[in-house]
Amino acid sequence: MLFLVINCGSSSLKFKLVETSWEQIENNTDKIVASGEVEQIGQSYSKLHLKTDGIQRSEQIEIKNHHEALEKAMQLFETATDKAIKMDELSGIGHRVVHGGELLSESLVIDQEVEDQIEECIQFAPLHNPHNLEGIRAAREHFPELPQIAAFDTGVHQTLPVKSYMYAIPWHYYEQHGIRRYGFHGLSHRYLRMRCAQLMDKSTSDIKVVTCHLGNGASLAAFDGKTVIDTSMGFTPLEGLVMGTRSGDIDPAVVTYIMSLENFSREEIDCVLNQQSGLLGLSGKTNDMRTLLKLMGQGDERAELALDVFCQRLKKYICAYYGLLNGADAIVFSGGIGSNSYEVRRRAIENLDQLGIIPDCSLNTELVVTEGRFSTPDSSTALFVIPTNEELMIARDCYRCLQATN
Ligand code: ADP
Repeated sequence: MLFLVINCGSSSLKFKLVETSWEQIENNTDKIVASGEVEQIGQSYSKLHLKTDGIQRSEQIEIKNHHEALEKAMQLFETATDKAIKMDELSGIGHRVVHGGELLSESLVIDQEVEDQIEECIQFAPLHNPHNLEGIRAAREHFPELPQIAAFDTGVHQTLPVKSYMYAIPWHYYEQHGIRRYGFHGLSHRYLRMRCAQLMDKSTSDIKVVTCHLGNGASLAAFDGKTVIDTSMGFTPLEGLVMGTRSGDIDPAVVTYIMSLENFSREEIDCVLNQQSGLLGLSGKTNDMRTLLKLMGQGDERAELALDVFCQRLKKYICAYYGLLNGADAIVFSGGIGSNSYEVRRRAIENLDQLGIIPDCSLNTELVVTEGRFSTPDSSTALFVIPTNEELMIARDCYRCLQATN
């Protein structure tokens, strides 16, 4: 079956056409038929990129909204390949939805009730769910006959035990306002657990794994089989690791202290913690790990410190999750930083041989964006780099959803 998978951000629309089936899922041979991205939607020079079967095309045109973005992307596919994506060839459209709240965990076909619930979750993810909904509405207009399926980033984290998702604050904030830990990057963590189990020739139900998704946003998850026993992001994606521009964990008293110091509003303190902190705040120069590593190489001390803080926090979480799991079969690194930077991986797991975590340093340096194992044969925990594939996970969920409803 062929699925169009759509991932909408505030000014972007990414898509992949994925062919999948039981057999392809089993053998990990699902096919990415085409992929593309529309960037800078709403500006006079939006950029449109497409990759399919050795063909690469890019265009710069004005694209006003997500509906137009989808239309232009489909037109570009048609002109590049001489073949339109016909509705009768597609089995459905899959959508990445960031927040599903407590009610929406499994991927499911979107009806009015589901759409209303995604809308309700805007209160928790005001920067994401509105754009996810725009994508759903654009796809429905473009392909009115096809089922639209939602897959949630919070989804797999709904398996969290209550002791992991409750904050120790007065109970009514949870009961009346839904303030709890939700966790994010769920589609990526699920893919990493699934692929790691495949690479280790184990069932996903039997594997204990710590997955590290390290991009501009970064989070960890600890899986005991299919259950997430803990994850580092919380009520919002601000909690946990040090990120590109986000502080991650911080003493809450610092927040109220800065607010009174600077006479800041909620929006202003949100901006400090989400957009001015993390690697950018520490280094004073960049939120980008590649640039940071370069600066460090030139002797920039604050860049070095930023990397130290980033890696120490990461190591702390890895060890905490290793402990919660009572030992892990594997630790997986992914995301732009985790897949590319052997230096970050090296620092995050150095001197853990007492825990049975032993990297092979030369294998580690060889793995840049390529999938592979970099632990020594006597390491009791396997170490992997696995580039993530959230879209593939969504396409497979679409397939399973439709098979279940037919
Ligand atoms: P996003 O969360 O926006 O999807 P990505 O997963 O694309 O982020 O990761 C972006 C991060 O990956 C940036 O900090 C970037 O510098 C970093 N990165 C990309 N390539 C490399 C590399 N070769 N070495 C170190 N960091 C890298």
